[in-house]
Amino acid sequence: MNRLSQSVEILRKANHLITLTGAGISKESNVPTFRGKDGMWRQYNAMDLATPQAFNKNPTLVWEWYSWRQNLISKCQPNPAHLTLAKWEEQGFLKTLITQNVDGLHRTAGSTKILEVHGNIWMIKCTECAYKSQLTSPATGIPPCPECGAQLRPDVVWFGESLPQQVMGQVLKEIELADAIIVIGTSALVQPSASFPLLVKQKGGHVIEVNVETTSLTPIANVHLQGKAGVLLPQIDQLLRIK
Ligand code: NAD
Ligand code: ZN
Repeated sequence: MNRLSQSVEILRKANHLITLTGAGISKESNVPTFRGKDGMWRQYNAMDLATPQAFNKNPTLVWEWYSWRQNLISKCQPNPAHLTLAKWEEQGFLKTLITQNVDGLHRTAGSTKILEVHGNIWMIKCTECAYKSQLTSPATGIPPCPECGAQLRPDVVWFGESLPQQVMGQVLKEIELADAIIVIGTSALVQPSASFPLLVKQKGGHVIEVNVETTSLTPIANVHLQGKAGVLLPQIDQLLRIK
């Protein structure tokens, strides 16, 4: 049996399928990933900008980078991988979508049962008070808080910060229920998300990995599908429909 058929077999048997997605699923929508050559912005390394220290040191620089990404993302459309997951949710087949992405493309694609573990690039929060809001267009400069005048920051989880507790609670409930997880386009280097598939596996669930390369998760995956998410997901979907 080839790997695609193996995945279809696992998916058909699954009672509670969940997914974990990362920056790779949005690559074919032209959203740059952080790692590799696409990760470079001017002379900076993206991973050095997504930290609280970077914001404290130079909020203007960090906002410029977020504004650049917001501009870029506003021009991006969901690709067939996002659309397939939205369809699977609508069919009742995919129960929950856990994403590390902040680009909002899953929502644009039509998914609703989304757990954004790293926040969303369009959400903002105050660095001093409890104010939170949503941007409708890319930020300019450092936006001030309308409540207290302090600096607003993107409501995303930066390296070194903990994940939103309420979202994490829901993630853990879903992992408890899951008997299969399809992991798409994540390098599995960022914790704790990288351990979600391991938790599913430990309780006897199946792990399917879709990635253009191998990762640290590949050895524990029941099936590793090597290729582009936007190509493989529609292929799986097609095979699922053939009885
Ligand atoms: P990553 O950049 O570390 O890894 C991306 C993975 O996707 C790699 O393993 C790569 O081989 C794979 N990949 C690339 N193109 C692919 C394709 N077409 N199909 C399938 N796989 C493909 O991404 P990560 O693991 O999500 O970690 C990055 C962190 O940065 C996350 O915390 C995330 O919040 C953030 N981030 C988000 C976005 C976004 O919202 N789109 C973009 C960049 C970074
Ligand atoms: Zn405030």
